[in-house]
Amino acid sequence: MIKVVKFGGSSLASAKQMAKVGAIIHEDPDRRYVVPSAPGRRFSDDTKVTDMLYRCYDAAAAGEVIDDKLDAIRARYQEIIEGLGLNFSLDEEFEVIRDYFKRRAGRDYAASRGEYLNGLVLANYLGFRFIDAKDVILFDSRGNFDAESTDAVLHERLRNLDNAVIPGFYGAMPDGSIKTFSRGGSDITGSIIARAVRANVYENWTDVSGCLVTDPHLVDNPETIETITYRELRELSYMGASVLHEDAIFPVRSEAIPINIRNTNRPGDPGTMIVESTVRSPKHVITGVAGRKGFCAINIDKAMMNSEIGFGRRVLQVFEENRISFEHTPSGIDTFSVLVHQEEFADKEQDVIAGLHRAVNPDNIYLETDLALIAIVGRGMRNAQGTAGRLFSALAGAGVNIKMIDQGSSELNIIIGVRDEDFERSIRAIYKEFITSGR
Ligand code: ADP
Ligand code: ASP
Ligand code: MG
Repeated sequence: MIKVVKFGGSSLASAKQMAKVGAIIHEDPDRRYVVPSAPGRRFSDDTKVTDMLYRCYDAAAAGEVIDDKLDAIRARYQEIIEGLGLNFSLDEEFEVIRDYFKRRAGRDYAASRGEYLNGLVLANYLGFRFIDAKDVILFDSRGNFDAESTDAVLHERLRNLDNAVIPGFYGAMPDGSIKTFSRGGSDITGSIIARAVRANVYENWTDVSGCLVTDPHLVDNPETIETITYRELRELSYMGASVLHEDAIFPVRSEAIPINIRNTNRPGDPGTMIVESTVRSPKHVITGVAGRKGFCAINIDKAMMNSEIGFGRRVLQVFEENRISFEHTPSGIDTFSVLVHQEEFADKEQDVIAGLHRAVNPDNIYLETDLALIAIVGRGMRNAQGTAGRLFSALAGAGVNIKMIDQGSSELNIIIGVRDEDFERSIRAIYKEFITSGR
């Protein structure tokens, strides 16, 4: 058996947490390849090392003195090193970092040092080989991740190593400059490593006992999902279930390697298994519910638009030309709506509205702002009758007005739009209807 284990920031935030991680790894010799994140929060209003690094670099780029900021980052690692009783120093590394910051090595370089340094510490603590992600996680010259070259290089590099620590979150472009994934990207690195070593399982260790039916900030103690498919999880993580990066599915998916989400603070809990497909019937009709705030709808009215060939294409082209991605396009006979992220749209709204007038000569355009989108996801919905009916009556019972509905053609999800202010109430009502009621 080969297991790849990724530990998130809170699992590595202090010496005490790192000791738990050491125990988990040593307990099972199959846990051979380890992907650490940067030290995260130790308590609720603590700052993640990644954020400290961004701020420190921004200060350096603005020509400010960064001694205090860099010392505060160094102190985070020193606390871990001393707490673990390691005979190990990062002094030289910090001199290099200071120098690179001065030479404006880039924000990605800066952020990547969080996992790089933590990887050095963890490798020293475990007695495992350290492999710098810049040598094995490869991006092309445009900054896109190069999956195939990476797989070949990594496979070769790790084949003869019994164990290794490979820092998460970053890699390098052909000219050697450091490039990171988007925030939370250590999950992606873990998945890439799991594929390269053809792991039997990719264990993703965090601070909750698996993927929960909904965000624990919205519902107290939500149930853990025992088994979920890659597709269901991707829908949920895209819509805000932040437990796993939405792109962490792809590398393991091609090899059908299961992901097991586990809790570093409760290692006895089985967590959640994320799999390609399963005969296990879901416990409830819905597997999970997630959502995000901050969308707006651009509603375009025009009489007889249904018979105007190319109408939709011309509308979407305006969004494309303004480089705005859209989420949904609900439509009626004489109306066509486009849902977008409000923040992305706000800067360009007048250009888009003018563009739409030129492109389709509408009768009327009106904007609806501050919308939240909620995804109700579940492979069990296909075989259950009346799911939409239950959903709508639960929301009506909670006094929520539904602004939009979109059911995916796979019947794997139903997306609804509600006002931002109704978001929390909606999630709780859905949880109560489908989970607390026990079906
Ligand atoms: P890590 O630092 O280990 O990568 P993250 O903070 O990225 O951890 O992800 C874990 C957090 O995701 C949890 O602490 C929880 O607050 C949040 N979260 C949001 N939605 C969910 C969900 N549906 N299931 C589990 N956790 C969720
Ligand atoms: N440390 C990075 C972040 O804070 C990557 C990660 O945690 O996965 O986004
Ligand atoms: Mg994470």
